[in-house]
Amino acid sequence: MGDFNPRTDPEAEHFRTAIIATLGPASWDEPVLEQLIKAGANIFRLNFSHGDEAGHERTLARIRTVASRLGVPIGVLGDLPGPKIRLTEVPGGGFLLEPGQRIEFHRGLASALHGEDGTACLGCTLESIIDDVQVGHHVLIDDGLVRLVAIERGDDMLVCEVEVAGRISSHKGVNLPDTDLDIEMPTDRDRRFAAWAIEHDLDWVAMSFVRSAEDVQSLEAHMRSVAGTQNRPIPIIAKMEVPRAIEHAASIVQEVDAMMVARGDLGVEMDLALVPSIQKHLLAVTRDARIPCIVATQMLQSMIESPVPTRAEASDVANAIFDGADAVMLSGETAVGTWPVEAVSTMHRISCISESTMRSLSISTGGDLEPIADVAPGPLESLVDATWTAALSANARCIVVPSSSGLHARHLSRNEFQLPVLALADDPRAVRRMLLLRGVTPVQVDALPDPAHLVERAESEVLALGWAEAGEMIIIVARDDLVDSGARMIVHRMCGEAGD
Ligand code: PGA
Ligand code: MN
Repeated sequence: MGDFNPRTDPEAEHFRTAIIATLGPASWDEPVLEQLIKAGANIFRLNFSHGDEAGHERTLARIRTVASRLGVPIGVLGDLPGPKIRLTEVPGGGFLLEPGQRIEFHRGLASALHGEDGTACLGCTLESIIDDVQVGHHVLIDDGLVRLVAIERGDDMLVCEVEVAGRISSHKGVNLPDTDLDIEMPTDRDRRFAAWAIEHDLDWVAMSFVRSAEDVQSLEAHMRSVAGTQNRPIPIIAKMEVPRAIEHAASIVQEVDAMMVARGDLGVEMDLALVPSIQKHLLAVTRDARIPCIVATQMLQSMIESPVPTRAEASDVANAIFDGADAVMLSGETAVGTWPVEAVSTMHRISCISESTMRSLSISTGGDLEPIADVAPGPLESLVDATWTAALSANARCIVVPSSSGLHARHLSRNEFQLPVLALADDPRAVRRMLLLRGVTPVQVDALPDPAHLVERAESEVLALGWAEAGEMIIIVARDDLVDSGARMIVHRMCGEAGD
């Protein structure tokens, strides 16, 4: 074990955990977007649960303006809402539901009513809850703060009783953890926004409330038909937030390009006490599958109102990174909070120091977790293993990988922040998509270097970043379509006199 000597100056060394900031009224104007990027955000989330195409279009245009003005790659993730159920209007700023009170859900009710006998009548955005919820099932409102239980099914209505009382207001979320909803996925709204995401060249779509690999396949089929392509036009992120998704994680991970531990809905749909274990499990599943994983929701929740987070929140961000997260995400903190820029800069500082700690203490990702799947390593995996072994034994300063699709960079990124990976790509889309990869710094180049100039080019990029000096070792993973792994490894000493 090395000395404990983490760098506390965020700029002092290279850093690469992606920070995803959800945009909303607190952050979608140009000056704030610019400050968020400068504070360390590199991916923005457009949440299609709220707003319309025109609004998202304006936000997207502002993101692109600011990114090009600053000359930095910024990724955009479009989050498809899935069958998120909400209350309809609740007039008068909302009302209190009392313990034991009788609540009726009425089909098609646009605005809640108070009956004379103390019964409250509510409407919700998914009419079929009236058909699908069975007696004994729970209906949870506002992240589970208010709990109802179904006691009776009537004609065109569902009768519930309040188990845990609380205030409800317009458009609060509704979760049905006990009910298997008969809903087609993707929903109509998902289809519309997935098409929009393709038209607007977004970098990822996230699918909410995924239940199975088939749900992902249907979204992919829709996207292929919209784009008129053979291949998936945009990478898909599965948001893991319902019990069935957790059960099917092993098959879902085979279908997607990344996963998100969506702890908000997960903590409502399942026992809150399970969420940390599920997070570790999903980080291990994605690490095995060599795809990135995002840890999301309430990471710095108290910063919605306060300029500093709680100690527990700071630990949460750090532990996600220690456990192998590629990206950490902010939701309400940046969308509607009072301190969006401070939330990003706090997350950035915690990330830098945590990465630095991992390097100085040689903490290995994910602690002692055993690999979940016993995958037989193929040529690519062997190449990656050999690269890491060579890099460590040659005491290399970094790994350089020219990458047109990001495949080799993705495999190389499954590391423990021992040393940075520089990915060179000519396609700006590939650059933006590689932003999600742990430990990888993607840099846009005009053209991928040809084999004769590869080493020279790698040297100059590394020198420009200040990652290595003359005499120090670097590793280059060069594309080679003639071999099965798709690349070969070069161990190279930087030219010139050491210390020049
Ligand atoms: P949401 O997803 O913010 O779109 O609900 C994340 C979560 O549920 O944690
Ligand atoms: Mn969610």
